[in-house]
Amino acid sequence: MSELNPFKIAQAQLDAAAKIMNLEPAVHELLRWPLREFHVTMPVKMDDGTTRIFHGFRVQYNDARGPTKGGIRFHPEETIDTVRALAAWMTWKTAVVDIPLGGGKGGIICNPKEMSMGELERLSRAYIRAIGHYIGEETDVPAPDVYTTPQIMAWMMDEYAVIRGYNVPGVITGKPLALGGSAGRGDATARGGMYTIREAAKTLGIDMKNATVAVQGYGNAGQFAHRLISEMFGSKVVAVSDSKGGVYCPDGLEFNAVLAWKNEKGTVATYRCCDACTPVSNEELLELKVDILIPAALENQIKKENAGNIKAKIVAELANGPTTPEADEILYKKGVYVIPDFLCNAGGVTVSYFEQVQNAYDFYWTAEEVYQRLDQKMTAAFHAVHETAQKYRVDNRMGAYIVAVARVAEAMKLRGWV
Ligand code: GLU
Repeated sequence: MSELNPFKIAQAQLDAAAKIMNLEPAVHELLRWPLREFHVTMPVKMDDGTTRIFHGFRVQYNDARGPTKGGIRFHPEETIDTVRALAAWMTWKTAVVDIPLGGGKGGIICNPKEMSMGELERLSRAYIRAIGHYIGEETDVPAPDVYTTPQIMAWMMDEYAVIRGYNVPGVITGKPLALGGSAGRGDATARGGMYTIREAAKTLGIDMKNATVAVQGYGNAGQFAHRLISEMFGSKVVAVSDSKGGVYCPDGLEFNAVLAWKNEKGTVATYRCCDACTPVSNEELLELKVDILIPAALENQIKKENAGNIKAKIVAELANGPTTPEADEILYKKGVYVIPDFLCNAGGVTVSYFEQVQNAYDFYWTAEEVYQRLDQKMTAAFHAVHETAQKYRVDNRMGAYIVAVARVAEAMKLRGWV
């Protein structure tokens, strides 16, 4: 049976890179594990007067290059191993875009879709009370991720200010603009991905104007991917989906209309714009004949069972961990150009870093300045990865690992850890 434990996958990916790089055993072993992790249990008063007990995690994977950085997920199926894997991937992500941060991640086992705003606020504050002494602008800086929002970041930042006794905007990123958030943070993950898609298309000679695109997932990453790919390149998005299912339209799906439908009905699955629209499942969407496939939902979507059926020329991974190692091998052999997750979706954390810089200076940039700096970072990272993959004759994920691991290893060595 193939392994779907995300942390086992993250370790296996690192092991493969270590072998190619001939990494020293101590460096390799240290990078296989989180430096620190916190498991917390939180009582929260619910609206009906009962008290519910929630469990959460914060993993500080590696801080050799700077404070650990990474989002907080609210998900009913959250596990410590998922958070560990995501924290490891954050370590490689900050390294591949060369920002002075390490990697971390947090998660709470909960179903935010079944919670009121008041319950979510109390849970968010409880989490910060539980981990507040172990995070900080110079140690570990959380941010949004699956099912967490700028509003949740605002509550968390406020609770942290209560604990410290003064305002510390830089403790968390992805804040609303009115509380020290950065222009351009909202769509940063998708926008960063667009810059890598643009570079990949140039490299492969694909004309983006005539390209067709399928997007799996309609959260922060997927939604903005739909908007930006139409806006920036004029490509045709022919399929979108969310956790309830998807819709396919060969004539192309208009972003504003789909978003309005999603906001009103709670899903894109029932959206129809013409007779040509047909329902499509999340699994079917991945196998559509499109030029660019954008997985922007959860882990383990492209597996050995379906990788052979992927028809896209480019798979741009806006989600974290959407492709298993076995699927990677199949895609590479088929000649599918994968823009690996911790490169493709690094735009979010890159603008989070810009947010921290702006908070530190208390001086704020325009959206154009943010986009331009983001473009520089993503374009440089893309080419470093592409060239490394070519040089070592490996897939782009391994190329990205080689670039990132070398940077983290160098920092650990200079510190005298290994
Ligand atoms: N959660 C996002 C990610 O997976 C952003 C993390 C951050 O901004 O710190 O990259």
